[in-house]
Amino acid sequence: MRETIQAADKLNAISQLAASIAHEIRNPMTTVKGFMQLMHAEQNLTKTQIQYIEVSLKELERTNQMINDFLTLSKPANNTVITFDLIPNIQDVTEFMKSYAHLSNIQLQCKITHYPIYIDGNANELKQLLINFIKNAIEAINENGTVEIEVISLKNKVKITVRDNGKGMSKEELSRIGQPYFSTKTRGTGLGLMIAFDIIKKMNGKYEIESNENEGTAIHLYFSTSDSV
Ligand code: ADP
Ligand code: MG
Repeated sequence: MRETIQAADKLNAISQLAASIAHEIRNPMTTVKGFMQLMHAEQNLTKTQIQYIEVSLKELERTNQMINDFLTLSKPANNTVITFDLIPNIQDVTEFMKSYAHLSNIQLQCKITHYPIYIDGNANELKQLLINFIKNAIEAINENGTVEIEVISLKNKVKITVRDNGKGMSKEELSRIGQPYFSTKTRGTGLGLMIAFDIIKKMNGKYEIESNENEGTAIHLYFSTSDSV
């Protein structure tokens, strides 16, 4: 219990720091965007120059969106539980994580065959939980792998799978995941899974992990569905 509380304090401090950095980044970005727009409005630009400016503006917009999403997530916990549609939230998270995956040449795919799917809980927490699993999946792959998110509608339940073909986990690692600060990464916090498992518990969900060394990992999440709103 004490360890969990300390971990939560540390996380709080980290996310507050990260949120203030994110705010600080926004100001110079607004300046850069303003000058790029001025440049775009100049006469006599070549086609290539216009293209460069447009790509830059698009990338600035994408970064801005990422910061907004991050700030939403790091806001003090909003514990409202409502019935909400899972699908647009999973699509949002997939889009949000694509840029992170592409940095390492990893394909992030999302397979959804059924929608809408309503569950009870907090949409921000659900997003946080998925981000933690997807981030781990991406980080488990050296390069050129695939992370797949699959949503399957079962009777009164939904099954969400996050699958990667990365390095997998040994039995020893599997028995330790979710313990505060357990990490095999040089820059890991070892808090991601602890938070994720906590959210699953809060949502009365269940999880199963299949993992084989050098083959990959699949995390299956199960939540009860609700009859729409
Ligand atoms: P962190 O990512 O900061 O290390 P986490 O709690 O998210 O902390 O994960 C703990 C550990 O669990 C990781 O360091 C890694 O060893 C292992 N792990 C989690 N997900 C995966 C995965 N998809 N493939 C391989 N190992 C994983
Ligand atoms: Mg992690």
